[in-house]
Amino acid sequence: RGRSAITGRFAPSPTGDLHFGSLVAALGSALSARSQGGRWLVRVEDIDPPREVEGSAERIIADLARFGLVADEPVLFQSTRATAYDNAIERLLREGKAFECGCSRADLPDNGVYPGTCRNGIARGKTARAIRARVDATPVTFTDAVHGVITEQLQHDCGDFVIRRADGLPAYQLAVVVDDAFQGVTEVVRGADLLDSTARQVHLQSLLGLPHPAYMHLPLVCDADGRKLSKQDGDDPVKTLEPALAIARALQVLGQQARPDLGVEGQIAAATANWTPGTVPRKVSAQWRARADAA
Ligand code: GLU
Repeated sequence: RGRSAITGRFAPSPTGDLHFGSLVAALGSALSARSQGGRWLVRVEDIDPPREVEGSAERIIADLARFGLVADEPVLFQSTRATAYDNAIERLLREGKAFECGCSRADLPDNGVYPGTCRNGIARGKTARAIRARVDATPVTFTDAVHGVITEQLQHDCGDFVIRRADGLPAYQLAVVVDDAFQGVTEVVRGADLLDSTARQVHLQSLLGLPHPAYMHLPLVCDADGRKLSKQDGDDPVKTLEPALAIARALQVLGQQARPDLGVEGQIAAATANWTPGTVPRKVSAQWRARADAA
């Protein structure tokens, strides 16, 4: 392992326990990296203390191990990286690529697109709250291995966006970009719920002069009613099934062959050897459970 330059990662937020959706993301990112002889990293995104659930980082790491998923290097905790985020934000401010903003949520239009109120100086009568990265009219384009070429007009879709929140904490978009570069991540494989964050991240990489990783967004797993499975879901395969069966289901969601008879380790070894990105579906319909049960 680690002989190629490929580096993948799984980046859970410690806001609850590992659930089936995050198991799919962990497995997909590990299989993709290791099938190419690359390394697979785990990064705990603990930069949002108000949302953190006590002990969940340790439980996520222990659960991953139960599912045969152990990172190739020590886990990186974002709570140790404040200086790197400060430096990146300072640099963007200094270079005029970011600005202080005095607007509160109530000042923004209903569509949430920032209208540029403070981009040429904090509006009269306001004081600095957040820091926003500047966007422009140039479209941001990236290629997703599952979803194809995606082009976004950030000016139109979100406007200048927050990189330091009003509570002083660095925003997810900023931290994820700084750390993907710091860890040498060459491919970001994660759930499709983050597809609409990707253009902002690609834009930040450009502003900071960082390399652009490859992207692959994995199908979200929905319950029988088509709702996204959440960490609160009681009937989650991670909790209710033997690990080998949960891995089999995760492989089916990923469009790969499930072999529960091989156990956890054997199944992951086979799926690594046989990983076919071309069969990862865009969406998983509510029937996935039924299909998995029939296998
Ligand atoms: N920490 C983010 C989450 O749990 C994921 C970050 C990423 O994969 O880019 O949703």
